Amino acid sequence: MDLTLSDTEEAFRDELRAWLEANHPGEPPAGDEEGWAFRVEWQRQLHAAGWAGVSWPKEYGGRGASPVEQAIFSAEMVRADAPSPANVLGLAMGGPTVIAHGTDEQKDRYVAPILSADEIWCQGFSEPESGSDLASLKTKAVKSNGEWVVTGQKVWTTFAHHAKWCMLVARTDQDAPKHKGLTYFLMDMEQDAVQVRPLVQITGEPEFNELFIEEARIPDENVVGGVGNGWMVAITTLMHERSGIAFAAQGQIKRDLAQLVELAREHGVDEDPVMRQRLAQLYIESESLRINAYRGLTQIIKHGQPGPEGSLTKWQWSDLNQSLTETSADIRGPEAPLKDSDWTYRFLRARANSIEGGTTEILRNIIAERVLGLPRLR
Ligand SMILES: Cc1cc2nc3c(=O)[nH]c(=O)nc-3n(C[C@H](O)[C@H](O)[C@H](O)COP(=O)(O)OP(=O)(O)OC[C@H]3O[C@@H](n4cnc5c(N)ncnc54)[C@H](O)[C@@H]3O)c2cc1C
Repeated sequence: MDLTLSDTEEAFRDELRAWLEANHPGEPPAGDEEGWAFRVEWQRQLHAAGWAGVSWPKEYGGRGASPVEQAIFSAEMVRADAPSPANVLGLAMGGPTVIAHGTDEQKDRYVAPILSADEIWCQGFSEPESGSDLASLKTKAVKSNGEWVVTGQKVWTTFAHHAKWCMLVARTDQDAPKHKGLTYFLMDMEQDAVQVRPLVQITGEPEFNELFIEEARIPDENVVGGVGNGWMVAITTLMHERSGIAFAAQGQIKRDLAQLVELAREHGVDEDPVMRQRLAQLYIESESLRINAYRGLTQIIKHGQPGPEGSLTKWQWSDLNQSLTETSADIRGPEAPLKDSDWTYRFLRARANSIEGGTTEILRNIIAERVLGLPRLR
């Protein structure tokens, strides 16, 4: 692909840069509730200025931006050190899935409140016994009097404690082969039959939760993509999850690497030959990530949808972010485990990178089978 920006793309970038300079909200406050309220407000500000759902069609309240402009948007947000909006799962995955597979009524009902952060979304895929092997999930939905009755358990449900809607995959046919017996629902979280219990991460943040679902009700019109098609719809969600991070991820690595070089200078190890090798290696890998992000973008431009290549950038990013933050701990030396800093937080948070959104081992299988065409595992 041609990596030079066109005049229109440059104008888009400059407009966004100017807007971010004038409207940057500063650092989010500490504390889950305060931090969350700040992110909701920030998303409202982005939305009011037309910067939420930039690549979504204009008819659904988006900006109708091209894939290249969406990539510019992600990279510029990182460059400006702008906070994440609140409804990340709705924006990155929920909205695009409804737009791809939903009925006209679903698009009219669900898409706008995602953009405005009036309704927060979470993703109810993983279960205690089904993470990587998602298709083996056991949460079941049974049709009764025109609605679905759902019972089961989900886990690691990010932002479920703030969410109004859950992208829920449940088994609707016990006898069908495991991938074929699934259906994708939009489940209202505001019902007594859905209990949300917080889990605390290694960072101390209560970011995700367990969901206990005991005969929750879902109206038939909240099925997305048809009964029995849940696997196909879930794949759309996952592809958006993995590919959506590529440009923000490469931008974050570039930004953090520049800060890591500064850290090495501050600690007087920037002339150390072994450290220089490590920093150079990180730089080389960050360039490879950047180029692969463009490769994924080419795929989206050609086919209109992210492809399995998005798994490559997700894998590269998690490896690289873990190496980068481990290097920061080595540079800081004995102070690293003793003195809390932003680097401590990044080091701890990076542990989840090779698990969230699909583990590295699973992504390698996808790349081997679906990108390289190697023999299938099963
Ligand atoms: C920060 C964070 C946020 C998350 N948010 C959400 C969310 O919002 N919604 C949601 O549904 N889920 C969420 N998850 C869950 C995440 O998707 C799962 O943890 C992940 O898919 C792995 O599943 P598991 O934990 O059950 O591990 P398992 O599937 O049990 O895997 C255990 C180990 O075995 C390896 N393994 C398993 N199968 C294979 C295989 N076939 N080949 C090779 N190796 C294999 C895995 O790579 C891993 O190392 C989140 C996870 C994290 C860490």
